Amino acid sequence: MMTDNVQTALVVTNGLTRRIRDWRTTEQLNDNLFVQTDYYSGDTRQVEKSQCQCGKEIWIEYGVEGFRADRKRVFYPHQDEFHHVFRCDQCSSPVSESVPGAEYDQDTA
Ligand SMILES: [Zn+2]
Repeated sequence: MMTDNVQTALVVTNGLTRRIRDWRTTEQLNDNLFVQTDYYSGDTRQVEKSQCQCGKEIWIEYGVEGFRADRKRVFYPHQDEFHHVFRCDQCSSPVSESVPGAEYDQDTA
């Protein structure tokens, strides 16, 4: 990984300071499951690339604390880490029913 030219990547929007992320796929675990690393901070995340039944691409991040009990975050690829998708923008289906992998896992405590 390149370490030169890494800057403090922050952007201020409406008075809120947010970190700019530049997620790059650094490991492919299987056909749809990837590990991505933020170029700026070195943070990593595990992402599954899926899609709605209508064809819209939707991703699922695993291990996200503080939201769903099963620690999944459902989002569109262009969205930052603060977004969660409940219903598909394109077909209005609940993503827990229309996106493989986004169903609620009942066994997670
Ligand atoms: Zn849809």
